[in-house]
Amino acid sequence: AVPLVVSVSTSISAKKGVLIRNREAFERAKDVQVVVFDKTGTLTEGKFEVTDIMTLDELGEEEILKYAAALESHSNHPIAQGIVEKAKELGLEVYEVAESKVLPGKGVQGVINGKEVLVVSPGFLKENGLWMEDERVNKVLEQGKTVVFLVIDGKLVGALALADKIRPESREAIEKLHEMGIKAYMLTGDNAKVAKWVAEELGLDGFFAEVLPHQKSEKIKELQEQGYTVAMVGDGINDAPALIQADVGIAIGAGTDVAIESADIILVKNDPRDVITAIHLARATYKKMV
Ligand code: ADP
Ligand code: MG
Repeated sequence: AVPLVVSVSTSISAKKGVLIRNREAFERAKDVQVVVFDKTGTLTEGKFEVTDIMTLDELGEEEILKYAAALESHSNHPIAQGIVEKAKELGLEVYEVAESKVLPGKGVQGVINGKEVLVVSPGFLKENGLWMEDERVNKVLEQGKTVVFLVIDGKLVGALALADKIRPESREAIEKLHEMGIKAYMLTGDNAKVAKWVAEELGLDGFFAEVLPHQKSEKIKELQEQGYTVAMVGDGINDAPALIQADVGIAIGAGTDVAIESADIILVKNDPRDVITAIHLARATYKKMV
């Protein structure tokens, strides 16, 4: 039987927008020492807007957007949504894509007009020897923007910068965690410059950037091996293994089904401050029992 105090606190927490799926994990929440947040969609709103299109070869800005939006219409990544939206806004007719494939944590690939087209991360460019220094690209990266690149038939032809917004509640969430003596880290597949910018804006204790989807859970494990009790907060498909690995997996309510099914606790209001609500509730509940 469920001890009365636990079932009462479960319904109290539900009223506060904190759904408990796993009671043992909820109990561990009282001992959390480090909270690791996913960036996109968790600390930020996860709504990307294209702010700059940069030509890096002969292809013009509109063409760059037409190719990129064509490929991205086959992806449901928040970056993809931002790019498709921009093409719509400008009333551009996007190209037909013959074949397409998602490269998890890296971008998308497809065939357009018989050409091999990629929209990919800075990390992908570096891995494949396609990276080139460009002042405009560096500038938008310094501004904390996410940048993706268009590659056609192996040639780098353009870049698109996208801006996301830090959730206003995130700052307060981090401050409160610090007041409780809990460290706050961030985990992201995005580039290191964006990660650094967000980390500084929010006063995070550390971050892991350019982490591929399959490596996210390893980062959680590393922290656990240092002796920490770790909570992970995420929203994406990519976050699921890290949510499972963490001592306490917490999903943002508006997140993907996979994240929600992998989590111990769900934040119904999508508010990162409710991580603190959950920890307080766990402390209050289990203090009374011992
Ligand atoms: P996050 O940890 O922010 O959820 P992901 O692992 O989903 O990040 O993606 C990491 C990086 O891979 C993105 O910042 C982007 O550079 C690239 N990427 C992923 N999906 C796409 C896509 N559909 N189009 C372009 N780039 C993408
Ligand atoms: Mg995310």
